[in-house]
Amino acid sequence: MENLLKYQNLDNELFKIEQKLSSSPYRKKANELTTIAKKSQIRSTELEAEAEKVLADISDIKEKYAINKKKLDEMLGGKLEKMSMEELEKANALKGKIASNLNILEKLLQKAAENVNRILADFNKAKKTFDDARNQFAICKQKIDEETKALEPEKEKIRKQLEVLEKDVEPNLMAEYKKKRADNIFPVIVPLEGENFCGRCRMELPKVAISRLKEKGIITCEHCKRFIYKK
Ligand SMILES: [Zn+2]
Repeated sequence: MENLLKYQNLDNELFKIEQKLSSSPYRKKANELTTIAKKSQIRSTELEAEAEKVLADISDIKEKYAINKKKLDEMLGGKLEKMSMEELEKANALKGKIASNLNILEKLLQKAAENVNRILADFNKAKKTFDDARNQFAICKQKIDEETKALEPEKEKIRKQLEVLEKDVEPNLMAEYKKKRADNIFPVIVPLEGENFCGRCRMELPKVAISRLKEKGIITCEHCKRFIYKK
């Protein structure tokens, strides 16, 4: 038990370094940038879909325009002198209607073109946001790597010392300790608080656990999964 506590004391130094690295502002920034990059990527995809729709609209409008224009041309090419008064009136009314249709279609086309321009501008904006985020991320990543590299010798030194201390700890206990440690549980072993409380999460321990603690010297907290020992 004492040997495991000794091990944990030193392991605490390693844990502090790991904490320092994981709480690095560069790491926080890198996470933010990843979110920004993802968002702008989603936006780009949305804009692509929007553009596709507008382009389909445009081709639809153009088609309708062509049909109306053809009708109008045919009518203008028709032999007016051969028409009766009634036919002429009808032709005139139709001409007016087609002209109005063409006018509406022209306006729709213009609006669609404006939409295309807006989508393109938004797309460029999203792309720039993505590129900026990616560039900044690369810088952050480099800083994180530098920080990690700078602390590596110290970590390695501690790891070597831990390897020595490990030899004095019961292997099964050591293996369990390492498993908990890998699950980010730290400290792994905590003292019993008062008569029957976990020294970490303050959970009240059942009587049967306390008698097992007296018998074996160590138990596991059901709540926070830490080892509990009696001082
Ligand atoms: Zn606990």
